[in-house]
Amino acid sequence: MIHFTCDGCGRSIDPDCEVRFVVRMECYASLDVDEPTDDEEVDHLQEIEEILERLDGVDNPEVGEEVYQQARYDLCGECRRRFLQNPLGRSVATNLKFSNN
Ligand SMILES: [Zn+2]
Repeated sequence: MIHFTCDGCGRSIDPDCEVRFVVRMECYASLDVDEPTDDEEVDHLQEIEEILERLDGVDNPEVGEEVYQQARYDLCGECRRRFLQNPLGRSVATNLKFSNN
């Protein structure tokens, strides 16, 4: 039997008793490749190529993660609800939640 652990609260999720939710996140550096707006288009593309070349040369995975990072989380129902209410963990949202009560 496969056991899943909630990445939010750390407790195990029993797939027989409850629904397991999966959150997939993608975070990448916006390099404005798709929307060239002015004459600097060529310069931007050159810049990006240079960045990519530099990344290839540097054997440091952390640099690559800064440009593109993907993550997957298993969540229980309660943590899913909390995540959707405040995906970025902003303290403002917590205050709003309290004032709604
Ligand atoms: Zn949880």
